[in-house]
Amino acid sequence: AKKTAAPPRRRQAGAMQVLVVEDDETIAEPLCAGLTREGFDVRHAPTGAAALAAEPADLVLLDLGLPDLDGRVVCRELRERSAVPIIVVSARGDEIDRVILLELGADDYVVKPFGFRELVARMRAVLRRSDSHQASPADTLDVGGLHIDRRSRAVTVEGRHLTLTPKEFDLLVHLAAHAVDDAHGAH
Ligand code: CA
Repeated sequence: AKKTAAPPRRRQAGAMQVLVVEDDETIAEPLCAGLTREGFDVRHAPTGAAALAAEPADLVLLDLGLPDLDGRVVCRELRERSAVPIIVVSARGDEIDRVILLELGADDYVVKPFGFRELVARMRAVLRRSDSHQASPADTLDVGGLHIDRRSRAVTVEGRHLTLTPKEFDLLVHLAAHAVDDAHGAH
């Protein structure tokens, strides 16, 4: 008997959101389809600008050779905003080493052409690592729609990232901590 097709797993509740930053459609298309089959909620950004404009994801696959921006710049920019795990995808394997990765703030890398199985294994490993280092409640503050992660120094309002200077961030943490105290009757 013919097996019925598995129900589509796209957009399932709680699925890990992966942002695939890749300009080459011949790579992006099968990659996005494969990751969707693996149960990831996949979004595709074909340029660096699209990657920086995308909603925050749980993991970023970042091709370094992009048409508009230097992938290394995109990587640094993403890292400045949040602690999202980043796996760099490079066609220039010999130019990528651990030192460059650390400088960029990336968590791991794969070199093209990479095996799909290997990539998914690395993705799951990186997600496991970031999960075990997940912020404890004391590292985060929630006031109204405001969410502050003191560890990664990331601030979101209703899910949108705020870009703050270090001083602004410290002031906001100070004010938010007082608001939380007030709400708990600490005064
Ligand atoms: Ca490319």
